[in-house]
Amino acid sequence: MYTKPLVRSWLLGNLVIALLCSACVSPGPKVRQEKEAAAPYNHDLVMGILWQQHSGEYAALCYQAFNAGKAYIASLPLGEKPAVVFDIDETLLDNSKYAAWMVCTGNPWGNDTWEAWCHAREADAVPGSRDFALFLREQGIELFYISNRPASTTASTIENLQSLGFPLADADHVFLQESTSDKNPRLDRIRALGYDILLLAGDSLEDFDSTTRKWTNQERRAWADAKKDGFGAYRIVLPNAVYGTFESAIVPNYYGLSLEEKARARLEKIHSWKPSAAQD
Ligand SMILES: [Mg+2]
Repeated sequence: MYTKPLVRSWLLGNLVIALLCSACVSPGPKVRQEKEAAAPYNHDLVMGILWQQHSGEYAALCYQAFNAGKAYIASLPLGEKPAVVFDIDETLLDNSKYAAWMVCTGNPWGNDTWEAWCHAREADAVPGSRDFALFLREQGIELFYISNRPASTTASTIENLQSLGFPLADADHVFLQESTSDKNPRLDRIRALGYDILLLAGDSLEDFDSTTRKWTNQERRAWADAKKDGFGAYRIVLPNAVYGTFESAIVPNYYGLSLEEKARARLEKIHSWKPSAAQD
C-alpha cells in the first residue's frame, strides 16, 4: 500500500512509541515474578520510610545524638591528632528515597540498583550531621568517613558528601568497602597514621564493633547492655528503622530464605500481647 512519506513517518513514530510503552508496562516474566515476590517485603518498609522522611521525632533523635556528641567532645582534652570516624549511610546520608523506590516499583534491593542510587548522588543529609562535622572541624579534629558502600562508588559518594557541605570529604578521608565489610582494618589504618579516634558515629552496632555483625539479636542486645555508658559519649548512634543487621540477625541463614520464609520469620519474631479474655 502506498503511503505518503509524511504519513509513513507518522505511522513509524507511533509504532516506536507503542513498542516503547509496551516495554514499560509489560516487563518480562522473570522481572514481573521478582517484583510480585518483593512487593510484600517492600511494603514492610513503608512505616520506617514515612517515619524517617516525615516525622519530627526522627529529626529530634538525630539532633539529640549529635548534641550528645558535641557535649562529649567539648568535655575532652584534645590530644595532638584527634579524629572522629563516621559511618555514612543513615549516619550522614539519608537513603530513604532508595527504599521508597523499592516500594513504589516493587523492585527488590540489588547491588546494581544500589550502586546506581549511590552514583546518582541524590542522598540528603541526616538532620544535624553537617553541623556536627563542621563543629568538629572548628575544634581542629580530623574526620574520616568509613562505609560499606562499594569502592566503585567512591567518587560519587565523595561528590554527594561535598555537595552537602561535609568537610574533608575526599579520597584521603573516605574509605569505602574493598575486600571486606569489616571496618576494623580501616580503623587500624587511621590509627596507624597516628590519630587518636575520640568518637565513632553510626546507625549499626557493627559501626562500633564489627564482631557484632554475625551475632544473634540476643547477643547484640547483650553487647549494647554491656556498653550502655558509652552511648551518647564516644559512641553516637543514629536512628534507622528501615534496614539494618537486626533484620538478618533474627534467624540463622536469613539471607538463604525465600522472601516468603523471611516474611514468616519476621512475623514469628515479634512479641505479641496475649490478653486473658478470649479474643482473636
Ligand atoms: Mg549506616
